[in-house]
Amino acid sequence: MEVGASTHVGKVRPNNEDGYLVRDGLLAVADGMGGHRAGEVASATALAVLRDYPFGPGDPSAELAAAVQAAHSRVRALASQDPSMSGMGTTVTVARVTGDRVYVAHVGDSRLYLWRAGQLHQVTADHSVAAELLRAGQIDEVAARFHPHRHILTRAVGVGDQLDVDVTDLPLEPGDGLLLCTDGLTALVDDADIARVLLEQPTPQAAADALVELALARGGTDNVTVVVARAD
Ligand code: MN
Repeated sequence: MEVGASTHVGKVRPNNEDGYLVRDGLLAVADGMGGHRAGEVASATALAVLRDYPFGPGDPSAELAAAVQAAHSRVRALASQDPSMSGMGTTVTVARVTGDRVYVAHVGDSRLYLWRAGQLHQVTADHSVAAELLRAGQIDEVAARFHPHRHILTRAVGVGDQLDVDVTDLPLEPGDGLLLCTDGLTALVDDADIARVLLEQPTPQAAADALVELALARGGTDNVTVVVARAD
């Protein structure tokens, strides 16, 4: 797999609470939240747990879910030790590519997309108030896009006792692409524009850079992080 990644603080926020991980077939993004620098600590902690997790020969979906649960426990433990970190949390969207399959674990409103034959498919479901209302049929897509609670998460790594982790897996075909991103991209750049950039840019790194630039050109209202991978 050829992989490119880019992250930027944006044009409004004082610090970058996003992070990403690219290592040995493991791709992840995390978007932290919390006061002071707690958001940065939450996302960096979760990504470090994923980076160091002892993945073995077991069921990849179960291992990936266990890795996210380990990140949840670690972020909670840090928050309980330091009052300034209380309430911190993070999204985690992580993909593990093994041979011709990709395994995905996900919590929050960062996203993973599959890019296949020029079409973009959103694989993960957003865990936000607006997205849950949309799935329940209580509001439409336009209302969801402008909903005052569109950024409020219904699940986050490090928040609450029990964490429900979405896991899924799908086959990869030669030429397929994967895109992982935080909401700093998708709040400003819609799926059609993401697909256009992936089509235009020659390499995953060029695509990641161009997508971040597009979010910045449209205001850069949040931290923005993009990981792009292309299967051989
Ligand atoms: Mn964000």
